[in-house]
Amino acid sequence: MIFTNAKQRFRMLKSMHIQVFFVMVCAGLIPAFLLFGTILNSFESRIMNQRIDSLEYQGKVIANLLVNSNMSFTSDGSEFGEAETEIEQLADIYEGRVIIVDRKLHVRKDTYKLEEGKTIISEEAIQALHGKKSRYINKEDQYVELVLPIAMEDTKETVGVMIFSFSIKDIYELYDSVEKSGRIILYVLSMIVFVCALLYSGRLKKPMDSIVASIDHMSEGYMSEQIPIPNTYTEIQDITESVNRLTVRLQKLEDSRQEFVSNVSHELKTPITSMKVLADSLIGQEDVPNEYYREFMEDIAAEIDRESNIINDLLALVKMDKKSGQMNIESRNINELIEQILKRIRPIAAKRNIELVFESFRPVIAEIDEVKLSLAISNLIENAVKYNRDDGWVHVSLNADHRFFYIKVSDSGVGIPEDSLDSVFERFYRVDKARSRETGGSGLGLSITRSAVLMHRGAIKIYSKEQEGTTFTVRIPINYVQ
Ligand code: ADP
Repeated sequence: MIFTNAKQRFRMLKSMHIQVFFVMVCAGLIPAFLLFGTILNSFESRIMNQRIDSLEYQGKVIANLLVNSNMSFTSDGSEFGEAETEIEQLADIYEGRVIIVDRKLHVRKDTYKLEEGKTIISEEAIQALHGKKSRYINKEDQYVELVLPIAMEDTKETVGVMIFSFSIKDIYELYDSVEKSGRIILYVLSMIVFVCALLYSGRLKKPMDSIVASIDHMSEGYMSEQIPIPNTYTEIQDITESVNRLTVRLQKLEDSRQEFVSNVSHELKTPITSMKVLADSLIGQEDVPNEYYREFMEDIAAEIDRESNIINDLLALVKMDKKSGQMNIESRNINELIEQILKRIRPIAAKRNIELVFESFRPVIAEIDEVKLSLAISNLIENAVKYNRDDGWVHVSLNADHRFFYIKVSDSGVGIPEDSLDSVFERFYRVDKARSRETGGSGLGLSITRSAVLMHRGAIKIYSKEQEGTTFTVRIPINYVQ
C-alpha cells in the first residue's frame, strides 16, 4: 500500500503538467523575490548613507564654527557662540544628542546636560582625537552614533571630539512601509503567476489527454478511426500524425492478416471440394468400371498432393515470418549450393527440353542460412522452368563484389504483365490462376523467396516482358548483418 502510494506520487511528479507548473512558478517567483530582497537592501543602505553623510556634513560645519569661536578649546567655559545655536538646532531636528569633548576628553557640551564636566573615556573618542572618525549603527534600538574629530582649519590639528547620537527611527519607518508595499506586490504577483502556471500547464495537458483518450478508444477495437489533429503545439500535432500513421499501418496489417486467413481457408478448401466431388460422383454411380475408379482415384491423389504442397509452403512461410534470431547462419559455398539445386531441377526441365545453364563469375563463400536461401533460389529456378515454354532456356548466374553476392535467374518464359509486377510477391497471388494451379503452384513461392532474402538483409528485383521472359535479381551481403 505504502509502496503503491509512493509510486503514484513519483508518477505524479513525472507528469508534464506538474513539472511545467513548477518550472513556471519558479521562473516567475524566484527572480521576483531575489530582486525584491536586493532592492530593499540597497534602499536601506542608500538612505542610511545619505543620512550619515548629511550628519557628517553638519558636523563639519559645527566643527568649523567651534574652532572659530573658541579657538582650540584652550580656555574653559561652555560658550561656543554661533556654534551653540547650531548644535541645539541639530539636536532638535534629528531628535538626538550632541556631545562636544575637548582634547583632554572633558565633556564641554552635552545637549542632554548629563555629562557636562565629566571625562569620557572611550575607544572611539581616543581614535577621533587621532583624526579617525567612526560610526556605529544600532538597528535594534534604531539609532546611529557618529564620533567625529574637531580639527583646526589651517593646521589640521585635532582639538576635540564631537559625538552625535541620533535616532534613525524615521528611516526604519520608511523602510518598513516600502517593504510592506513590496510584499503586497509580491503576494499579488505570486497569485498571478500561480494562476497563469495552473491555466497554462492545464492547457498544455489537454491535447495530451485527448490523444490518450483517442488511443484508448482505438485499443478498444476502433482501429480504423483517426485522431483529429488538434489545433495546438506543433510537437503534439506531430505525435498525433505519427499515431495516425501507426494506426493506418496496424489496420493494414490487420486487414492483411484477415485476408491471409481467408485466403488460406479458401486455398485449403479448394482441393477438398474437388476430392469430395470426385468421391461423391463415384459413390453416386453403381457398377462403375475399374478404369473410372482408377482415373478418379488418380485425380483425388493429385488433389491430395496439391493440398500437401500448400501446407508445406504455408509451414515454410510461417518459419520465414519468425524473428531473425531463428536464423541458422554458417559460411557456405554458394556455387555448390546452386549446383545442388540445379541438379534436382534439371530432370524436370529436361522433360520439356528446357536448357538450364549456370554461369559462375567467381567462387563465392558467404554467411547464410542454407535451408532458407536454398528454398528462395529453388523457388526462383522452379518458377523459371514452370512458367517457361517448351524448348526454352533458363540462365542462372552468380557474381560478387567485396560486400555482396548477386544471383540472377532469367528465363525465356511467358513473362509477367506490367500491372502484376508489384503483386507477384504477395501471398497467394497468381497471374494466371488456372495455369498456376495446373502446375501445382500455391501462390506462396515468391512470397517465401522474398521473406528469405529480406531475412538475409538482401534485396530482390524483378524485370519482365510478356511473352519474352522474366529476370529475377537477388543481392545478399556476403557477411551476415544482424
Ligand atoms: P506459384 O506457386 O503460383 O508459382 P509464386 O509465388 O511462386 O506462386 O508466383 C506467383 C505468380 O507469379 C505465379 O503464379 C506466376 O503467375 C508468376 N510468376 C512467378 N515466376 C514467374 C516467371 N519466372 N515467369 C512468369 N511468371 C512468373
